[in-house]
Amino acid sequence: NPFMLHKPRLLTPGPTPLPERVRFVMAQDMIHHRKPAFKAVMAGLKDGMAELFGTTQPVLPLCASGTGAMVAAVNNLFAPGEKVLVIEGGKFGERWTDICNNGGVIPVQLKVEWGKVVDPLDIEAALDADKDIRGVLVQYSETSTGVQHPVRAIGRVTSSRQALLVVDGISAVSISPCPMDAWGVDCLLTGSQKGLMLPPGLALIALSEKAWQKAEKVPSRDFYFNLLKERESNLKGQTSFTSPVSLLVGLGESLRMFAETGLENLYRKQWAMTMMARASVEAMGLELFAGDNFAWGLTSVLLPSGMDSVQLLAFASERYGVVMAAGQDAYKNRMVRRGHMGWVDSGDAAVSIHALAGSYPAGGGPGRRGPCLERGQAA
Ligand SMILES: *Cc1c(COP(=O)(O)O)cnc(C)c1O
Repeated sequence: NPFMLHKPRLLTPGPTPLPERVRFVMAQDMIHHRKPAFKAVMAGLKDGMAELFGTTQPVLPLCASGTGAMVAAVNNLFAPGEKVLVIEGGKFGERWTDICNNGGVIPVQLKVEWGKVVDPLDIEAALDADKDIRGVLVQYSETSTGVQHPVRAIGRVTSSRQALLVVDGISAVSISPCPMDAWGVDCLLTGSQKGLMLPPGLALIALSEKAWQKAEKVPSRDFYFNLLKERESNLKGQTSFTSPVSLLVGLGESLRMFAETGLENLYRKQWAMTMMARASVEAMGLELFAGDNFAWGLTSVLLPSGMDSVQLLAFASERYGVVMAAGQDAYKNRMVRRGHMGWVDSGDAAVSIHALAGSYPAGGGPGRRGPCLERGQAA
């Protein structure tokens, strides 16, 4: 994009663009994490985080990318040798399995075809068939496929059983509603670089009362991610180790923006952006990878075989300044993942549609000027 014909637009499912207001507050000088000024920052986050997570329990910040909170969840809630049911319908579901194996927790995999959604009845059957299963680990939004798993319905299954419902909400929190107390979610976690409009490096995690009771019985084996210790520090307006101060100051500004907008309106915007993305993909005659259960923060587009999404995306970046993501694993060169989460509006969405259509021939697609333009000519 050497001639500045287009603004650079980061339209990936994380990281996402930063609002100017957030960048400004993050540029402030450092404050000390054990002094009153920092406690004031922490106190200012409390209500906004509680509303976002929909919980009366404390939302604990961790200095880590989102995966750190996934590790914290597994290692604090389950003892080595305990079994958990992992919903494996994509790259991030597989990550749950890897984390369990690494920590000695036994993953029982419930495999779901990529692009498909888990059936809560299958979860119910699995829990009833094996009473030793202590948890259900799932992604709310499976970012590798663009699918949204039915967390609310899964919560109805786990609420009446001993198993804890652990939800990776990294690409869902502040993008689509996930009120953890109302839905019976026992652990909800997220990362800063997606819907929260922040740089990477901060994770947030909250546990239900049922989950805290379980955590108290699990022998602590993680020196850094010890959630019982973090809960104690949180009561003092601190974190156990040096806090990611700038990110937390930035979070304060993001939460203020959410409060000014209203969460309802924020979710409405996300829904509208998702509708816009899906309609444009269908109008181009391209295939939506996620069916009716789609995430609200990204739209995954399957290209016809013979096309190469990596080449298409390189062109979109260079010619239009629009950075979107390719697929993962087997779909790396077959899929475009258009992010529309965080500080992104309908103008950005329109430009990304333009860039997708205009870059179509560069990806090896038929048509000189992209599918929708060719169709228009034919008509
Ligand atoms: C982005 C993402 C992650 C990975 O988070 P990191 O911040 O890279 O550790 C995990 N799960 C989901 C669903 C994600 O979208």
